[in-house]
Amino acid sequence: MSSIAERIAQIRKELPDTVRLIAVTKQVSVAAMREAYAAGVRDFGESRVQEAASKQAQLHDLTDITWHMIGRLQTNKAKKALELFEWIHSVDSLKLAQRLNQLATQASCKPKICLQVKLQSDPNKTGWTVPELLNDLPALNQCDRLDIQGLMTIPPLGLNDVEILNFFNQTRNLASNIQEQHWSNLQMQQLSMGMSNDYSLAVQAGATMVRLGRILFGERPTPPQATASESNW
Ligand SMILES: *Cc1c(COP(=O)(O)O)cnc(C)c1O
Repeated sequence: MSSIAERIAQIRKELPDTVRLIAVTKQVSVAAMREAYAAGVRDFGESRVQEAASKQAQLHDLTDITWHMIGRLQTNKAKKALELFEWIHSVDSLKLAQRLNQLATQASCKPKICLQVKLQSDPNKTGWTVPELLNDLPALNQCDRLDIQGLMTIPPLGLNDVEILNFFNQTRNLASNIQEQHWSNLQMQQLSMGMSNDYSLAVQAGATMVRLGRILFGERPTPPQATASESNW
């Protein structure tokens, strides 16, 4: 089996320069994260606030990492998340956005945000449906302490490649439609989409950030401790 550094080099060769590689390190050891860092990775994605806090403490000597929150965020962990993460990809409701906005005002920070959308109804995923998102745009536009940068999505399980590509293309089109509405506080340049199984399709559809875990670090040891409804994968 190839090393983490070799796998990173291989993926980088495949990705256009414009696509940001986020190494997803949930359940990955700090030692493996150091290997990824040594291979040039500076963007790390975590899905749990507690786990991220512990890893950041152990990696505090690596001062130029950008931390990305990609997992479901409960409002009661929003404050901690703002302290730990520069990016939050998984903002999945107006309520959470408004809470983050309030906390960011108090903390004088301006977190970078992706709005998590689901283009098909999917009981396993949170996020806005298209009509819900369109309805919430005026209120989101008022969250002026949030640096809203684009959309994040995860396709439902069980789609074939054509359907996945179509799903990602629809997400890109939704971002373009919102961009064309010229909201003063909503940027739609970023598309956070693509995981180990489907990142090449996401890149074809215009992803700007791919979130890769298993393809870099191998299979995760166990299913998450989370319940099915909490799980994002
Ligand atoms: C776990 C996870 C990933 C990475 O998935 P892999 O299949 O390991 O590449 C990406 N995005 C989110 C939201 C995740 O929870």
